[in-house]
Amino acid sequence: MACGSEEDHMALNFTKASYARSAGAARDFLRDGLPQFAFAGRSNVGKSSVINRLVNRKNLAYVGSSPGKTTQINYFLIDGGAYLVDLPGYGYAKVSQSEKERWAKLMETYFQEGADAITAGVLIVDIRHKPTENDRVMHDWFRQTGCPEIIVANKLDKLKKSQVEPALALIRETLELTEEDILVPFSAEKGTGKEELVGLLNKACER
Ligand code: GDP
Repeated sequence: MACGSEEDHMALNFTKASYARSAGAARDFLRDGLPQFAFAGRSNVGKSSVINRLVNRKNLAYVGSSPGKTTQINYFLIDGGAYLVDLPGYGYAKVSQSEKERWAKLMETYFQEGADAITAGVLIVDIRHKPTENDRVMHDWFRQTGCPEIIVANKLDKLKKSQVEPALALIRETLELTEEDILVPFSAEKGTGKEELVGLLNKACER
């Protein structure tokens, strides 16, 4: 599915982004045929910050919202030609059991009924830490959709240069990534990796 305007096949301009809708159940999932980029990551990994960096806005995705409070999927329209799908964060320790169950139910529904709309999955992990069990589960769900998956290793600015390669190797090993799997070192804080990620998302649309 080509992104952007049908006529000129221009690359998507991520700075032209607007909130489209929130979905807490399957009836609200968007399936209008536009490409969808699904973003996932554990709470506090910097998912909102990565999204805000991509769209060049301070506050499109809400940074620092009390983690796990809202179990819903947020859709943002990008340049009239694709959706950025902000999946609810996971793994926040203080979340109640019922909230965890709501999250699991919504994700199950999304990957069963909404997954055929996913053009690319973006899994955000913390470059400083070994991916968690939840990260592995999310990675498996993305893999099962068969869509291209991009792993973003955020908070690059928090590491010394010498720490970067070993950190990336640990992520590759833990998620059992192959040579072909894409792992992008990223800093939402500094903007590192932004052009690469935008390029990869545009490329995913050409498949
Ligand atoms: P979310 O819960 O995954 O949406 O995470 P947020 O975007 O709210 O970020 C959680 C915290 O990490 C905030 O204090 C951010 O300022 C911080 N943060 C996010 N990305 C980066 C980054 O690349 N570098 C640094 N140093 N801090 C970051």
